[in-house]
Amino acid sequence: MTCTISYLVPCLQSPHQLANMSTSTSNHPLPILIVGGGPTGLVLALALLRSRIDVRLIERSSVPHEGIRGTAITPRTLELLSLLQAADNVLAVATPPLLMAIYGDDGKTLLKELKWSPDADDSPAIPYRHIASISQTQLEKVLRKHVEKLGGKIELGLQLLDIPKNSQQGVTARVKSEDGTEFTIDCAYLLAADGAKGRIRRLLGLSFLGETNDSERMFTANALVPGIDRDHWHRWGDFAKTAVALKPLYPAPLFHLQALGPTLPETLPDDTKGVQSLFNSVAHRDDLIIEEASYVSEWRANIRMVDKFCVGRVYLAGDSAHVHSPAGGQGTNTAMQDAINLAWKLALVHKGLSPPSLLETYETERMPVVAEMLNLTTQLHERAFNRIPSTARSSPTEDPIDPMSRPLNLLQLGINYRWSPIVVEGRDKAEARGHQDPHGVAGGELRAGDRAPDATDLSVRGKDEGGATTSPPVAHHTMYGLVAAAKGKHVILIFPASLEDVRGSVEGLRGYVQSGVAEALVVLEPGMREAVGGVEAYGARVCVDESGHARTGYGVETGSTAIVVVRPDGIIGAYVLGIDQAHEYFSRILYV
Ligand SMILES: Cc1cc2nc3c(=O)[nH]c(=O)nc-3n(C[C@H](O)[C@H](O)[C@H](O)COP(=O)(O)OP(=O)(O)OC[C@H]3O[C@@H](n4cnc5c(N)ncnc54)[C@H](O)[C@@H]3O)c2cc1C
Repeated sequence: MTCTISYLVPCLQSPHQLANMSTSTSNHPLPILIVGGGPTGLVLALALLRSRIDVRLIERSSVPHEGIRGTAITPRTLELLSLLQAADNVLAVATPPLLMAIYGDDGKTLLKELKWSPDADDSPAIPYRHIASISQTQLEKVLRKHVEKLGGKIELGLQLLDIPKNSQQGVTARVKSEDGTEFTIDCAYLLAADGAKGRIRRLLGLSFLGETNDSERMFTANALVPGIDRDHWHRWGDFAKTAVALKPLYPAPLFHLQALGPTLPETLPDDTKGVQSLFNSVAHRDDLIIEEASYVSEWRANIRMVDKFCVGRVYLAGDSAHVHSPAGGQGTNTAMQDAINLAWKLALVHKGLSPPSLLETYETERMPVVAEMLNLTTQLHERAFNRIPSTARSSPTEDPIDPMSRPLNLLQLGINYRWSPIVVEGRDKAEARGHQDPHGVAGGELRAGDRAPDATDLSVRGKDEGGATTSPPVAHHTMYGLVAAAKGKHVILIFPASLEDVRGSVEGLRGYVQSGVAEALVVLEPGMREAVGGVEAYGARVCVDESGHARTGYGVETGSTAIVVVRPDGIIGAYVLGIDQAHEYFSRILYV
């Protein structure tokens, strides 16, 4: 057998040999330095720590950011946060789905209640159907707690100044603390999560392609407004002139105030009195008191992305790699999804289980998704910033497509990587590769590269998601709950037609389990319930698909066999019919 990629790890002959290969080959005392403590940096840290990779996270600011910024967390991001076991805590500080209340010229007459975002299908395959609204301050607070719970530390007041070394031997970062002390940090990989204005992109000499339009501006502030209902996202004015909106966020009486439009004053307010006056003039009412306005900021249209997500051993993620319109609320989501795609690959490479070439697929997979996200949000931006002809929008209520309505694909459940060179579709590969709509697959036939569906009512004997004995002795789980319990590993779902199928699959794929790359989960039909003990005897985890939701969601017909490998980022890495094809998937990501 020949090995095409030779790095620090010898070529292995079988998954059994792989099982003995789980120690890191890196000589660096610090595997990964993350620069930036926003959503991207925090999700990178959380995902890597869950995979037992040491990280150091430095953040320039000496205190956590308090501005609201991105507020819309999509169903897909919630799923990914659930894989990091953080979604419940995020939802605890989120506001539920709201209708938008649009008021008339007197500022008080309700003209219309707008459903600004559609719901995802009501299906056992979809755990989160709605966008959750949350202040980025609260989101980051939750993520920081999760990072700290795993022993991670966010080092505030440390700023990256320069990257004097970036080679295949590792990276050196020069940093400065608040007292002016400068020192260097050596690491195997440096992750640039330093945001839109971060310096790493420039230090690497990367192009930031796109457009800037200083005349398209949005004013935002944190506003405490006790006197208005918190059951709506309120909106006044007209996008052809200026519109202002108040979105309720946790904790009450906090609202996100946003104002935009061509007649937005050139000089924007910087105190509560000024914000109140701007609000009154656009909303045409003066009875709503803004008790306090803070963290006022101005956003100017800047829609750009890098042409490379990596230089040497430095990887860019989140706003450091792409900036876009807040229209459509994709910024924070796309940032965190970059992070979760990159983290599992870095973990495997750093552990010496995968070749560095696996990291190339971060860009191959994310670049088309990000480019399409820029297209989609720019279309919404053009509506919100009145770039469409005025004849098409004579009033805020007559507009056939409201500027703040979002299409279904911005729930992000269709994001897929079908074109990725590492995914394996074992049924008809050619057709699967041909389809390249990075945001467009939701509800069609499931393929390798697609989002892994959830499934409810999976009963597991005797163990909860953390492996503890349950009472009662049979617990009911969801597919995402069971994948999350694998803590950053792949999960090999085995849908067997017989107990004999199970034995062949479990034994054939055991090496990946023993090496810590994957867990095997056998999904039995209720008619095979008697086989639970037998499957456990083979050393695999097993659940019973009580209502058939897993087979339906994964498109596996009753009585037939399939193996579906779910990646740590909730994507189907392989959809195959036998263990040879499953080996093919692992051979594309591992040193086997
Ligand atoms: C005013 C404003 C309003 C926004 N509104 C929306 C919205 O409505 N909807 C939406 O989806 N998105 C919105 N966004 C965008 C959203 O906030 C970003 O997409 C998101 O924060 C990206 O996360 P990130 O972690 O990549 O970057 P950031 O959140 O920007 O985090 C980067 C971090 O890196 C730190 N840093 C920078 N340089 C260094 C350095 N040299 N050394 C150490 N640390 C460094 C910064 O202090 C910062 O904490 C808004 C952004 C702003 C600024």
